[in-house]
Amino acid sequence: MQCMSKQVKNEKMEAIVSLAKRRGFIYQGSDVYGGLSGTWDYGPLGVTLKRNVMNLWWRHFVEQRDNMYGVDAAILMNQKVWQASGHVDTFVDPLCEDTVNKRRYRTDHILKDNGVDPDGMSMDQMDEAIIKNDIKSPDGNPLSASRTFNMMFKTHVGAAQDEGSVSYLRPETAQGIFTNYKNVVDSFYPDLPFGIAQMGKAFRNEISPRDFVFRSREFEQMEIQYFVHPDKWEEAFNELLASTHEFLHLIGLKPEHIHELDVPKEDRAHYSKKTIDIEYDYPIGKEELLGIAYRTDFDLGNIQRVSKKSMEYQIKGTNEKFIPHVIEPSFGVERALMAVLSEAYTEDSVNGEKRAYLRLPAHLAPVRCAVSPLLKNKPELVKKARKVYEQLKHELGNVMWDDNGNIGKRYRRQDEIGTPKCVVIDFQTLEDDTATVRDRDTTSQARVAIESLLPALQVD
Ligand code: ATP
Repeated sequence: MQCMSKQVKNEKMEAIVSLAKRRGFIYQGSDVYGGLSGTWDYGPLGVTLKRNVMNLWWRHFVEQRDNMYGVDAAILMNQKVWQASGHVDTFVDPLCEDTVNKRRYRTDHILKDNGVDPDGMSMDQMDEAIIKNDIKSPDGNPLSASRTFNMMFKTHVGAAQDEGSVSYLRPETAQGIFTNYKNVVDSFYPDLPFGIAQMGKAFRNEISPRDFVFRSREFEQMEIQYFVHPDKWEEAFNELLASTHEFLHLIGLKPEHIHELDVPKEDRAHYSKKTIDIEYDYPIGKEELLGIAYRTDFDLGNIQRVSKKSMEYQIKGTNEKFIPHVIEPSFGVERALMAVLSEAYTEDSVNGEKRAYLRLPAHLAPVRCAVSPLLKNKPELVKKARKVYEQLKHELGNVMWDDNGNIGKRYRRQDEIGTPKCVVIDFQTLEDDTATVRDRDTTSQARVAIESLLPALQVD
């Protein structure tokens, strides 16, 4: 029974991946050259959906709060950043090798795939579990003992190829925030608590990228470092957790698909004293969507130690000085997007015909509405429809013109990409200036006066 439901769920994942490619949401990176593992390119609809998610995050966490400051730091940073942060020494995953064909795997993933829970295990314990359970590689060969593998992409900045020119593509956006903490304090001197937020690319040389965009080598993060008085970290943590749930609601995720995991000490990142992972029921199973970590003064303390510059904060009007502690909500854009697509993907039947469509929240849909003339060979309908299209496009932006095929096919196509409403100009329009507005979810149709179309379609 369990096997059956897993298979059905993977069919759902396959259907989403196929729809995403076919309809121009997400393509394999470098596809024309056979692809590059762990990289994905966003097509015309995907880029809009992704931006809608990111803009909503920015609005919710930055613009609608009065204690949040945005930054956009460089991806390449001085190598000292990654030495001080601990990433050079400890940003590693356990890697084992197929002893015959030399393919490499993440040891914890191999265990998980074979029904052994690796949570809380040291690398030695994982190796013991592999031996005890007689686990082989996916090709049926023995596996080597594990070793650690640093996930940062190393590069050189400038013409010299020596140790001094080493840099890394950032594996998290957080360090670009920490290194700007002092700049923001000097420019704005905000009261505590305050946060600095950043959205942008991060790079990790994942040993085995998989599950569509879920585990990529290049992805985007949306992160906040929230600076607090050391005595007040807990209330800030809870407040950001509550605000995170509000955001997940805004992107349309159902509460019953969202789970909090209080990460045990052995599994927390090296800098964290408490971490709550938010997991989501993806079609591939329950997996991490985002994490909220209490990073203490670990990062600012390290920056102060290595840079020899004070990271202390002085409470205004007092002599009280200390290094602020930090709460970090860290969101992966791709994982948020994959959750949005999984939640939205729906199959039903309309007039006895199977339909697959994206039940996206209207404020996230890449196309807000499509406008069509009922028949494309009737110039009077086309002329009127073009006029309505131009007006709506001017006001709403993401409006699509669609006159291909018959009206039923147009509806199916728009349903598949999640367009909430289709506006159709027909012969009655020419008489009474009303149009048919057809709803994606209910498939019901209503006649709406053209002058009332805009309020009927606006969602903000
Ligand atoms: P995992 O355990 O799944 O590897 P992580 O705990 O290492 O993830 P963090 O370092 O906490 O992840 O990164 C913060 C967020 O960045 C994650 O919650 C996730 O949303 C996103 N993220 C991390 N790695 C990837 C990746 N390889 N591809 C896509 N998103 C990622």
